[in-house]
Amino acid sequence: MMRTEKRRAALAETVRGNGITHEGVLEAIATIPRHEFLRDTALHRRAYEDVALPIDADQTISQPSTVAYMTALLDPKPDEKILEIGTGSGYQAAVLASLGARVFSIERHRVLYDQTRALLERLGYRVRMRLGDGSHGWSAVAPFDGIIATAGAESIPPALVEQLRQPDGDRPGGRLVIPVGGSERQRIVVVRRTGPGPEDVTRETLAAVQFVPFVRGR
Ligand code: SAH
Repeated sequence: MMRTEKRRAALAETVRGNGITHEGVLEAIATIPRHEFLRDTALHRRAYEDVALPIDADQTISQPSTVAYMTALLDPKPDEKILEIGTGSGYQAAVLASLGARVFSIERHRVLYDQTRALLERLGYRVRMRLGDGSHGWSAVAPFDGIIATAGAESIPPALVEQLRQPDGDRPGGRLVIPVGGSERQRIVVVRRTGPGPEDVTRETLAAVQFVPFVRGR
């Protein structure tokens, strides 16, 4: 078996081949040890395939190309405050942290919350985590420069739009990247805050994707 560094670099090239041009994101994919995010060691040999794989609590670690696509849309800048809904394995959070963002992440399954908190700490990624329903956002930390949801929502939770930063002078407002649609298939929607009111947004519907469902309530 190739050493994992080589396999990671090959994965980044696969992701590039799928049309991702964001060099920072490709660098993160080439650097992050994705096998560490799979508790089931039998899956480690598949860690650098461009596929979603099972994790605990019947959830999945997302497909690297999808993580890359959504992260490139979000385009987090160093020190920006980014909220992730659906920590899961922690891989997406690690990608965001590698780009220098201040990452906040909410997970509703305690088993994943506990495991992933310990894992991210062990690997040295600075991510603040919280257990609960992410559809309410994280009001104590808001507003956010960016919010990324990694579970498919039927509709966009209003609290997430409310917690996007308002535009300020030359600085554009915050953006939300979220898969929206039924449980089978969703489309990536990007919402950008353009003013003070909750209706002051633009909304763009992009590629089709497949995520595990976004579950409301605990
Ligand atoms: N970002 C993860 C993807 C995990 S799959 C990764 O990189 O591995 C989506 C995750 O969203 C699951 O762990 C699921 O439990 C979680 N989730 C679903 N609905 C949620 C909600 N309302 N609030 C918080 N987490 C939620």
